[in-house]
Amino acid sequence: MNYDVIIGLEIHAALNTKSKMFCSCPNENSSEPNTNVCPICLGHPGTLPTANIQAIEDTILLGLALGCDINQHSKFDRKNYFYPDLPKGYQISQYDIPFCEGGKLEANNKTVDITRIHLEEDTGRLSHPPISDESLVDFNRAGTPLVELVTEPVIRDAATAKAFGQRYQQVLRYLRISNADMEKGEMRCEANISLQKKDSWKYKDGHIIPIGNAKLNHKVELKNINSFKAMEKAIEFEIKRQSALIDKGEQIPAETRGWNDIKNETVRQRVKETSADYRYFPDPDLPPVVINDKQLKEIKSRMVELPWNAELRLRSDYGLGEYDAQVLASDIHISSFAEEVMSEMQAWVESEKDLWERQRIILAKLATNWIINELLKHLNEKNESIADIKVTAEHFAKFIIMIHQGKINSSAAQTILNEMMKIGGEPDAIMRKLNLEIIDDEKVLIEAIKKIIKDKPDQVAEFKKGKTTVIQFLIGQVMAATKGAANPAIVKSLLEKELNK
Ligand code: ZN
Ligand code: MN
Repeated sequence: MNYDVIIGLEIHAALNTKSKMFCSCPNENSSEPNTNVCPICLGHPGTLPTANIQAIEDTILLGLALGCDINQHSKFDRKNYFYPDLPKGYQISQYDIPFCEGGKLEANNKTVDITRIHLEEDTGRLSHPPISDESLVDFNRAGTPLVELVTEPVIRDAATAKAFGQRYQQVLRYLRISNADMEKGEMRCEANISLQKKDSWKYKDGHIIPIGNAKLNHKVELKNINSFKAMEKAIEFEIKRQSALIDKGEQIPAETRGWNDIKNETVRQRVKETSADYRYFPDPDLPPVVINDKQLKEIKSRMVELPWNAELRLRSDYGLGEYDAQVLASDIHISSFAEEVMSEMQAWVESEKDLWERQRIILAKLATNWIINELLKHLNEKNESIADIKVTAEHFAKFIIMIHQGKINSSAAQTILNEMMKIGGEPDAIMRKLNLEIIDDEKVLIEAIKKIIKDKPDQVAEFKKGKTTVIQFLIGQVMAATKGAANPAIVKSLLEKELNK
């Protein structure tokens, strides 16, 4: 392709505070329409908003996590526009002094610079019942605290845009300030995308400017993206659409386009406003916000281990590979489950002197494989979260140690894990209940072997004539006779002994 792709993102995320941004209504919009409302969030004249300090602290915590500069002197501004889901006729947002500026986040092995993170209030929700010509509005969501992150236009491909969104979602969840579920609209991504001829533009002070007399193409704003997959597809679609237009010598109009998930294409929504159209001005009902050093220190003390640090630590503490560490750290519930499993395993083997030290890496790898390849696979299939499974970390640790010690073979382990996931409980109790314990009692095994030798004289004769591969068949017979519970290594050595007698 002859063009450079230039993408900047704007991501809104709803904070999970108890109450709304400027009133004391509960911050949850799953209730009956228009029940979590009051004169303030309905924008009645004469009411006064009060800023939710928790939301401000959460925003600053997020800024600290992403290395932003924090504006300890800040304010709220009115963003004026008319739309039926906006009861006041303006949105309280932040214009020239957001709480957070600068900062960066790594995604797809690239550094993405952040312009700003500000705090604002959400709008209500419109719905358009298909069989009538009326529109309905639910103001339960109006006034929900929203953090808006804006990146610099430094992203160059759809995969990085998607990876950025995913990493950012992970950060919000690690900080426990937002559930950031895109399907529920708790996180909403918009992408600004333009294509420019190579060597016709440069990036300076946050702006794309032309080189010489070059004429730049307009950018298009993509909205209505409700999953990361849709985000990647919508951007890829736009790259193709815009490059085809430019190839034909046509202009790209500056407009907002929405992603249509059914038709797999973007469709024109409206011509884009510029920020001048919003007539921003400081909200006269809200005093400036001052965060003193002591408050800032308190916010800093809430900082948790961030996903990239969790990945590094999983790798160094347990010798995990990059991929394994990424999967475990991808979700805070998975990583805390995994870590609990690791420390439970350590508690189990600690009694045996330095066994943990010697086997830490083997056990960690074994546990990780079972978590990723079995536990998470089953959960994904059933669309369940690890947060509400019946298997405790303690039982899972015990289960891994049983596998490690050879008490169960892998097919028995699958059965036991399924049972643990269905009804919970101790893995060794399940093993005994289902008769899955590995048989390594030589007396029991010799008996089974002698019976097979008696029952299969032809194969035994072949073996004695020198066709030693037939031993696999005989091992298989012993395994079948013990319903797969025999320890195959012991069976093999005992069988060899018996046959060579
Ligand atoms: Zn309210
Ligand atoms: Mn916004």
